[in-house]
Amino acid sequence: MKVAVFSTKPYDRQFLADANTEHGHELIFHETPLNPATAALAAGCPAVCIFVNDEATADTLKILAAGGTQLIALRCTGFNNVDLNVATELGIKVVRVTVYSPYSVAEHTVALLQCLNRKIHRAYNRTRDSNFALDGLMGVDLHDRTVGIIGTGKIGQIFAKIMGHGFGCHLLGYDLYPNPAFENELGGKYATLPELFSQSDVISLHCPLTPENHYLINEAAIAQMKPGVMLINTSRGGLVDTEAVIAGLRSKQIGALGLDVYEQESDLFFEDLSCEIIQDDVIERLLSFPNVIMTGHQAFFTQEAIGTISKTTLASITEFEQGKPLSNEIKPPKKVPAIV
Ligand code: NAD
Repeated sequence: MKVAVFSTKPYDRQFLADANTEHGHELIFHETPLNPATAALAAGCPAVCIFVNDEATADTLKILAAGGTQLIALRCTGFNNVDLNVATELGIKVVRVTVYSPYSVAEHTVALLQCLNRKIHRAYNRTRDSNFALDGLMGVDLHDRTVGIIGTGKIGQIFAKIMGHGFGCHLLGYDLYPNPAFENELGGKYATLPELFSQSDVISLHCPLTPENHYLINEAAIAQMKPGVMLINTSRGGLVDTEAVIAGLRSKQIGALGLDVYEQESDLFFEDLSCEIIQDDVIERLLSFPNVIMTGHQAFFTQEAIGTISKTTLASITEFEQGKPLSNEIKPPKKVPAIV
C-alpha cells in the first residue's frame, strides 16, 4: 500500500525500512510535519503515517480525505493530535501503537527525577571544569518519600514498581479508572487529586491529554502541593500550565521540574535550533532555572521502542490493506467521568 510518512528523521526511515521488508509497502518519506499546508503531499496515498506533533485537525483531515486517504497510522501511543470525530465522519480509520516499550518512558522518568534530585546536570558541568565542590548539590534520600502518580496505566505502573520496589517510596495514585494491581501488587494507594497533591514529595504525570484534563497542573493545583515538590511530566505538554509552573518555581513552591514534553513543543522539538534565536520566551525562562531539566520528547527513544513502533505500525497498515479487523484502532471516546 502507498503510505505517506510524515515527520521522518533518518532513524525513523531506517527502522521503518527494515520492518517493511516483511510487508512490502510503498513508503514515501516526508521530513515535513503533517498540517493543512502539507496534507496535499499525501494525495493518492490510502494510508498516512504520522507522529506526535503532526496536526490531524479537521482542516488537515478534509484535505487527506479528498486525496483518497482512508487510514491514519500514528507512530505513537497518544492521539490528542487527531480529531477523531472528524476522522470518523470522513470515514478515515485511525490506528496507533498501543504498547511499544512502556519501560522506555518509565525509565526516562526516573532518570529525570534522580538527575534533578542529585543535581547530576550541575555536577556534570562542574567536574568537566575541574570544580569538585559540593555546595548546592545536596539531594534527598528517596527512600520513605511519597511519590504521586497521575495515571496508573502501563507506564505509570512500571514507574510505580521502580519507585516502590526499587527506592522504597510510598506510592499514591490517581486514575479515572483505578487498576486493582496498583494497590494489590505494587503496594500503592489510590487518592483523590487534592490528597495526592498535598501529600506527595514527587508528582509524576502518566495520563493521556484529553479536553477534560488540559492544564490539570494549574495555579490552583500547584497551591495545594507541598512546598518544594518535584514535578515530572513525561506525558503531554498540555497537561501543565507552563506560566503557572514558572510562577511556582519563582515562589519556590515547586522545588524541581523535569519535563520531556512542553505545551508549545511542536514549534521546537525534534529540530536542531542551536543556531537560531528562539522566539518562545516561556521556554527560555523555563530553561533559565537551575532546578529545571528538559529533554525534547525523548522518553520513548530506545532501540526497543522504535523497533516495536515500526513493526506495529506497518502491521496495522497491512491489516487495513487486507481488510482484516484493526487490532490497534482508536474510536472517538465515549463520555468520560468528570475529574474528581
Ligand atoms: P495507558 O493508556 O496504559 O495509561 C493511561 C492511564 O491514564 C490509564 O490508566 C487511564 O485510565 C488514565 N487516565 C486517563 N485519563 C485520566 C485522567 N484525566 N486523570 C488520571 N488518569 C487518567 O497509557 P500509557 O502507555 O501508560 O501512556 C501514558 C501517556 O504517556 C500517554 O497517553 C502519552 O501521553 C504519554 N507518552 C509519552 C511518551 C514520551 O516519549 N514522552 C511516550 C509514550 C507515551
